[in-house]
Amino acid sequence: MPWWRRSLTTAVQAKPGLHVSELAPYACLPELSRGRRHAEPETPAHAPSFRNPHQRDRDRIVHSTAFRRLVYKTQVFLNHEGDLFRTRMTHSLEVAQLGRSIARALHLNEDLVEAIALAHDLGHTPFGHAGQDALNECMAAYGGFEHNLQSLRVVDELEERYPAFNGLNLSFETREGILKHCARRNAELLNAQEPGGIAARFLNGTQPSLEAQLCNLADAIAYNAHDIDDGVRSGLLTLEQLQEVSLFARYHAQTLSEYPQLQGRRVLYETIRRMLSDQVYDVINTSRTAIGTHAPASAEDARQCPSLVQFSAAMHEESKALKSFLFRNLYRHPQVMQTTDGARAVVQELFAIYLAEPQEMPASYAQRDDVPRAVADYLSGMTDRFATREHARLAQ
Ligand code: MG
Repeated sequence: MPWWRRSLTTAVQAKPGLHVSELAPYACLPELSRGRRHAEPETPAHAPSFRNPHQRDRDRIVHSTAFRRLVYKTQVFLNHEGDLFRTRMTHSLEVAQLGRSIARALHLNEDLVEAIALAHDLGHTPFGHAGQDALNECMAAYGGFEHNLQSLRVVDELEERYPAFNGLNLSFETREGILKHCARRNAELLNAQEPGGIAARFLNGTQPSLEAQLCNLADAIAYNAHDIDDGVRSGLLTLEQLQEVSLFARYHAQTLSEYPQLQGRRVLYETIRRMLSDQVYDVINTSRTAIGTHAPASAEDARQCPSLVQFSAAMHEESKALKSFLFRNLYRHPQVMQTTDGARAVVQELFAIYLAEPQEMPASYAQRDDVPRAVADYLSGMTDRFATREHARLAQ
């Protein structure tokens, strides 16, 4: 019998009909989920349950409209600039991959990590950060626009898939992970609607679940690595420039000393691969130690501890230095800025048009009383190319 069949058989025998995992007591155990906003049976009447709540969340996210739009939303480079650059979709898949690897090593809830990772950027506007900044400015007088909060709005309100409620009705734990940051004023508003719910931690200074903490780190590890790749591919970053980044320089030198004949892309890929591994192992080792020291007895206990899923102090500094390098040399590169300036204008002009003529939006948005928020919801849901087409149609 092949090994995989043997382990599958053992797993199925251990817990017939259930998802099998070896979760630590500090993980978010699916059976202890704080549940959904709208009551619904976890087990469908017509079929035996073979998915836990967090698997269901993941599946709902994958089947959502907002998820499919991520294919055509900019990460750093606009979608039409090249076929091989990351989009929000491939970025989210990379975050899920890194997150799941680390989750398994730490015996955290891998399904929950996957759900959070796949949903974490659902609220992003078209055209990356330029689009987000522009929309935030347009919304300044109407409560602002935050992409994390918008990701939550997408899964709580904007997806239209169920007969009995708006949104995807995800579990508390997935929603908690999606709301990564939140301004205090918005946290107060959310907490008034949902007392002691997912926004409470921004008011009482506690941490989110370890799975949510992990997704934040996996997000940073993913974009730091893939933005180097995309930056070099685009010709905006050079290997010489990257020598000032210690994390890159170390593994670049190591790669060349082990493979002196290696040239071209493979040098870059091998360097990035080693950087990724180093960061992943650093998180696993540092977090194991921190978890061992604080010994949280439950997921709830872990929320009361300081942040436990983390880089070592040295890796934290190196990661920060890489991020700041990318900010200075890639995100603020004149060529990136030039295209993003155009994108900013598209968002600003579309916002003004819809605000003045809500009937240009589909009826479900046009008929809402809160016109500015309806415009923000509609605009932020657009893909880059749809926004460009709408702009061509309306801004004469
Ligand atoms: Mg992200």
